Amino acid sequence: MAASSNTFRLYLLLALPTLGLAMLPSAGLCATNEPAPTATQSANASPTRLIELRGRVVCLAEEMSQRHGASLPTGHEHLYGFKTSSGEYYTLLRTRFSEALFADARFREKELLLRGRLFPKTQIFETTTIRSIRDGVVCDLYYYCDICDIQSIAPGLCECCQGPTELVEKPLPTETKPN
Ligand SMILES: [Zn+2]
Ligand SMILES: [Zn+2]
Repeated sequence: MAASSNTFRLYLLLALPTLGLAMLPSAGLCATNEPAPTATQSANASPTRLIELRGRVVCLAEEMSQRHGASLPTGHEHLYGFKTSSGEYYTLLRTRFSEALFADARFREKELLLRGRLFPKTQIFETTTIRSIRDGVVCDLYYYCDICDIQSIAPGLCECCQGPTELVEKPLPTETKPN
């Protein structure tokens, strides 16, 4: 009993910073089939590129400090970004689809395959799909509520029953066609 309430508290802690965000486009999966609101592009939007990045989430401040001697205050706030296996750095926009990269430390321990948009004249990346690479196999990564049988990309409580979710890392079939 004590153990389960501790577990619940842990989930709550993990969920808290994102709860407000997760509640916004609420209802979504469970109550209605309404599609998630899509970002409206401004009229003069330049074309963006869809790309795939392989690498790891790093603290950009620490990386720039180590590589280029950028000043790093003691007790700095981590500035999470992405470092590809070829050594390129990207800034990650924090959205519902990338929230786990910031909020869940387990994502920062894995080799990842991110798919998303790179904006013109920037190294700013908007993540749409997160996958992991485990022992050379590409895996799907998602949070799962076994009560509702619902998958979610964002960490936190189940949108439907508000119960805890678990992180699932599931190998994809080897020859997956790009979406
Ligand atoms: Zn840091
Ligand atoms: Zn649920």
